[in-house]
Amino acid sequence: MNTLCAAGTGAFLSSQAQRLGVDVENLGKIAMESKNPIKIAAKCTVFAESDLVHKAQIGHSKQDIIAGLCKAVVSNYLNNVGKGKNIQEQIVFQGGVSKNDGVIKYFKEATGKDIYVDKNSHLLGALGVAILAKKSGTERLFNFNISEQDFITLGEECNGCSNNCEVIKVYKNGEVIDKWGNRCENTKV
Ligand code: SF4
Repeated sequence: MNTLCAAGTGAFLSSQAQRLGVDVENLGKIAMESKNPIKIAAKCTVFAESDLVHKAQIGHSKQDIIAGLCKAVVSNYLNNVGKGKNIQEQIVFQGGVSKNDGVIKYFKEATGKDIYVDKNSHLLGALGVAILAKKSGTERLFNFNISEQDFITLGEECNGCSNNCEVIKVYKNGEVIDKWGNRCENTKV
């Protein structure tokens, strides 16, 4: 959902689901069973994780913790990515997290707007990339046997300036195919 803070992403929900011993696909359903969603510190992934462990230790129910997590993702997203943006009448929600009924519910509550979720909402990002790729007019052979390819990610710190950006690089069969985290194009890594 965003590149500004991990606590507003599906990957964050996925890792917390694993920590709580539930399938990520069931988070939304479990969140909807909550009668009293708890407040989880959502400003940062590290705080959110330790807060979640603390809330579980003091005896809050799984339903209330998961509902709190869904709420935390919404508040993190609106306070980081959505900050200062003019929200229109209807919000189109796409990506894997849009399959989470709990997150949809708290987006509705927080914005007071209709949230439109297409039945293929989880695929829209891939569709958009496919359209952009087609429009670019560039063609490259692609091997669809993904399971036979070797993908790894490695983090490296750029020392090009005092920002010292942590750059994450994706390697396919030993070759860098993408990277992110650099705040400028002059990255040294
Ligand atoms: S990526 Fe750019 S902004 Fe970040 S440390 Fe390197 S030179 Fe500085």
